[in-house]
Amino acid sequence: MIELALNNTTPMDAYPHLLEPLQLGSIRLRNRVVMGSMHTGLEERPGGFARMAAFFAERARGGVGLIVTGGIAPNEEGAVAKGAAKLTTAEEAEHHRPVTAAVHAAGGRICLQILHAGRYAYNPQLVAPSALQAPINPFTPRELSDAEVEAQIEAFVRCAQLAQQAGYDGVEVMGSEGYFINQFIAARTNHRTDRWGGDFASRCRLPLAIVGGIRAATGPDFLIIFRLSLLDLVEQGSTPEECLQLALWLEAAGVSLINTGIGWHEARIPTIATLVPRGAFAAVTAQLKGRVGVPLIATNRINTPEVAEAILATGQADLVSMARPLLADADFVAKAAAGRADEINTCIACNQACLDHTFAGKLTSCLVNPRACHETELLILPAAESRTYAVVGAGPAGLAAASTLAERGHRVVLFEASERIGGQFNVAKRIPGKEEFGETLRYFQRRLERLGVEVRLNHRASAADLQAEGFAAVILATGVTPRIPAIPGVDHPRVLGYLDVLLERKPVGRRVALIGAGGIGFDVADFLTHGHSAGEPITAFYREWGIDPSFSSRGGLAPAAPPAVEREVWLLQRKPGKPGKGLGKTTGWIHRARLQRRGVHAIGGVEYLRIDDAGLHLRLPDGVEQVLAVDNVVLCAGQESLRELEDDLLGLGMAVHRVGGADVAAELDAKRAIDQATRLAAQL
Ligand code: FAD
Ligand code: NAP
Ligand code: SF4
Repeated sequence: MIELALNNTTPMDAYPHLLEPLQLGSIRLRNRVVMGSMHTGLEERPGGFARMAAFFAERARGGVGLIVTGGIAPNEEGAVAKGAAKLTTAEEAEHHRPVTAAVHAAGGRICLQILHAGRYAYNPQLVAPSALQAPINPFTPRELSDAEVEAQIEAFVRCAQLAQQAGYDGVEVMGSEGYFINQFIAARTNHRTDRWGGDFASRCRLPLAIVGGIRAATGPDFLIIFRLSLLDLVEQGSTPEECLQLALWLEAAGVSLINTGIGWHEARIPTIATLVPRGAFAAVTAQLKGRVGVPLIATNRINTPEVAEAILATGQADLVSMARPLLADADFVAKAAAGRADEINTCIACNQACLDHTFAGKLTSCLVNPRACHETELLILPAAESRTYAVVGAGPAGLAAASTLAERGHRVVLFEASERIGGQFNVAKRIPGKEEFGETLRYFQRRLERLGVEVRLNHRASAADLQAEGFAAVILATGVTPRIPAIPGVDHPRVLGYLDVLLERKPVGRRVALIGAGGIGFDVADFLTHGHSAGEPITAFYREWGIDPSFSSRGGLAPAAPPAVEREVWLLQRKPGKPGKGLGKTTGWIHRARLQRRGVHAIGGVEYLRIDDAGLHLRLPDGVEQVLAVDNVVLCAGQESLRELEDDLLGLGMAVHRVGGADVAAELDAKRAIDQATRLAAQL
């Protein structure tokens, strides 16, 4: 835990806007950081409320000004899925008391998000303004009658009252992302002809009735945040004029704050993935600045105090919402306030342990911080006895093991064969749009320095070395080595390894075949087809994905204009079916769409016959043989564990623990590597 006291680096000078308090009626927020809503899965677990209390309290102690819970349904039919959390009775409200008490005891403020999924509910009982199936849901909603619409409004109001009883400082009404309320607002999903449909004013009747009802029922001091979709990114979405009009009506109806929503879930434009430039949507919020009286919250891809401060300092918003960055580091604000921003464990926007888990029904956590949502069971406590450990390999697994051991009071020597720490993350960060991965290495570098880990670079450890120093045990984190598949001609000069390409060790021709279409095959295809886009990163991102830079069109859409590609690439796999099915649930579609637009030929079910001067000889799924006359064949055929030291160490009678790729190479990713290494180091 970082002390909130300021040190001599005067961070108030560095982040004066971020750290400035805000008075909202009788409620004072200690700074401008809002922890945005995230469903963690704790809400539905047995014993989950105690774990939620620990999770949120840790963030409150870390200095966050205002926390918003994950979405809680106001009634059964509004739940995102059958059995998902709802707040409908006084008994349910009691369960929330430990959460609000823990946050308040830590000096924080907390609002409950009321989320009605409408046609996005993964639940056959789903309801919506009109019986229109969402493209991302197999279930078709039932159209609500007039009386039933009234009942939904009452459910929102009742839920807010129960939240107040449970000790919350307010509620956030989820009106964006294409959920129930947004479905009423947009003509795309509201085809009603009664008083809840028709023109824009009639379509806004429901959100205004909800806000007005909550204000009347909860009194003047209860916070009401409205998450307003300011950029729908779907056809028949709202215009900026309509958004402004609704914001003004909401203000009159009694909201305390307006939070920004960007993109419906069914939009085919990335809004939070790592390839989205930092602060890419702050300009959307800025459109309302000076035009409404209530404070505005900017969101999406704000992951450092510098980005947050710049948004506030340039007057684009009054507060910033960060969700995943607070999973990655509970002490984000405290570190910024203490002049230790370089110690922040930065969210790299990979979605691998947060959103991908949520959509798979697993508990949310964080790739770079496996303690997130595991605060009560993954404890990093001082060791009973301090020992000296060797960690061999400074990839993600070795870095996590070494720093966690040192944090517990052990002496640690970290051996790394190359000239820098980071292992494969040094390669991953070279992929366009994955530059954030470098932040993890900066974080670990600082953590090793701070904890006094002795790092020996350019040192390929041998068993004899390690024995000579008398270590209590060796943590083997030597990672992986690329697999060389047994294809005739694999040693032909036109064959390259993925490291040759990504580290630019060898030139690559204009026609390229990639053997293997896993995460690395996709990344290499991206690297090879990444054209040079003119202009600033945000402008180039908008152009590539079809976002109107003036936001003036309906839904904020414009024709997409991907950069010109000079290479022809074939992305191949032996498994039948379209490549890319194993990619992350919430990011795989982005990679597939991007490569498709760049004309990459993605082919599954192939058999590799041989490689020779003519190119790559294949058998296609229909049995036809073909030669791809390519300049280069790049091997992206997976990895094998590198643990050559293990037998020698065991032969010398030394205790050895394997972590990361050195343990199991199949389906290895950094999430598993860091989690496994942290858990091992927490126990030694
Ligand atoms: P490594 O990262 O391989 O590190 C092992 C380290 O050990 C190396 O630095 C090596 O030099 C050192 N070493 C080996 N032998 C010795 C020795 N005898 N003495 C001293 N040092 C030694 N994962 C994700 O989760 N998400 C992604 O988006 C992602 N993208 C990727 C993109 C690319 C292009 C690549 C290449 C990988 C990507 N990965 C991604 C995979 C991720 O980087 C690996 O899963 C992770 O790095 C494995 O960590 P590790 O510590 O086990 O091994
Ligand atoms: P991978 O995802 O396991 O993919 C390996 C690819 O090689 C598969 O397409 C496989 O397909 C093919 N292959 C395996 N054995 C082969 C053989 N003998 N001959 C020919 N082809 C073979 O591994 P990776 O791409 O190396 O990635 C490593 C890890 O990094 C992955 O687990 C991934 O999670 C992680 N990563 C993640 C991301 C991300 O965006 N989340 C990005 C990059 C990397 P067939 O067997 O069907 O041919
Ligand atoms: Fe950020 Fe990835 Fe952690 Fe999610 S898993 S919070 S995206 S670093």
